[in-house]
Amino acid sequence: MRAIVAGGGIVGLVSAIALRKQGIEAVVCEQAPEIRAAGAGLGLWANALAVFDELGIGDDVREIGRPAEMRFRGPAGQVITTPGFDDEFHQYVLVHRAKLNDLLAEAVGQENIRLNARVVGFDETPSGVDVHLEDGTALTGDVLIGADGAYSVIRSLLLPGSDAVEHEGHLAWRAVIAPPEGVTVERGVIVVGHERTRGGYVPTADGTVYWLVNQFESGELIGSVKEQALQRAAHMDTEGWNPALQALIEATPEEVVLRNQIMLVPPLPSWTSDRVVLVGDAAHAMSPHITAGATLGVEDALLLARLLTATDDVASALKLYEQDRIPHYRRALELSTVVEDSATPEEFALNYVSFTHWMLTDSHWTLSHG
Ligand SMILES: Cc1cc2nc3c(=O)[nH]c(=O)nc-3n(C[C@H](O)[C@H](O)[C@H](O)COP(=O)(O)OP(=O)(O)OC[C@H]3O[C@@H](n4cnc5c(N)ncnc54)[C@H](O)[C@@H]3O)c2cc1C
Repeated sequence: MRAIVAGGGIVGLVSAIALRKQGIEAVVCEQAPEIRAAGAGLGLWANALAVFDELGIGDDVREIGRPAEMRFRGPAGQVITTPGFDDEFHQYVLVHRAKLNDLLAEAVGQENIRLNARVVGFDETPSGVDVHLEDGTALTGDVLIGADGAYSVIRSLLLPGSDAVEHEGHLAWRAVIAPPEGVTVERGVIVVGHERTRGGYVPTADGTVYWLVNQFESGELIGSVKEQALQRAAHMDTEGWNPALQALIEATPEEVVLRNQIMLVPPLPSWTSDRVVLVGDAAHAMSPHITAGATLGVEDALLLARLLTATDDVASALKLYEQDRIPHYRRALELSTVVEDSATPEEFALNYVSFTHWMLTDSHWTLSHG
């Protein structure tokens, strides 16, 4: 069997690793001239680490990561407790996205990755799928895996009218930087602030710090991108207890600050045809306030590889995958919406840990039955 993977982001790369480990040939087509990732951090939870362990790269991922805890504080600095939830539902590992993607690309093997290879179309045939690239060439495979992110071309061809939509007023500002002189960050601080803001900072394994600022229902954006982040950071420190966040943002060169309008993929009635399947953000880009889109997406990759290995009947493997994943993500979306709608920092913290509890327990169940 031969799989063509459209997209060399985290989920496309993990898909290729999982397939190749099962003895299925997999070629990744990435539109960019290199496997890259914008300069930001990525929180990986235990379910994602379990996938990496199964693929034999768990220790390598932990080596580039740093353990962290998602415990929220209110705007005055008080840590919010969430009784009834063990530490494991707060713990994750923070990695630098670029380092993770380098590691994954290495595991796929550079010879199995085609760069400058934008997928623009496909034709399904009774025996397989012809995948068309922008340069006019085509590749033939048994299955096409659409791992091409929120703006997925594969999704738009498979399900016309399913374009990602802006999550109105929901934006994120982030960067990874070396802390400036006088700022020491030994542990992460994440705050649920006033005015629907949330953010903070987390140290990475190499001494740099990942800072992030999110806002729901953002009004008009005023000033430079950095000023916008600073205005929102002020809502997360009403008592002057947390000067480090402002200092980190101040020290970040303007051009290094990433600002994203958050995009959502509407719930889809189907993720597959007989020969084509969606994984990762292409299928389910969700609000990043749950910090788990990639963590959930790597589960798609492993489950799909397992199902494709179990049979020569690609269409029925894809159907089984879809039957598992669509209800799973409906639930993820419901819980994510509950988190987003939280009225107070206390509610946010409790709803958030309820989400991670579900993800870390239900996901294992799903995968073990894949
Ligand atoms: C602010 C923010 C913070 C987040 N924080 C976290 C976090 O802490 N933890 C977490 O788990 N998740 C987090 N997420 C979510 C996470 O970033 C995504 O879920 C994840 O990156 C999705 O991976 P992907 O491989 O599906 O898609 P992408 O990362 O979007 O990769 C898609 C790839 O496909 C390529 N491509 C696109 N179109 C084509 C084409 N036609 N042909 C070939 N190649 C193509 C692109 O160039 C890209 O390389 C966050 C998201 C945001 C916005």
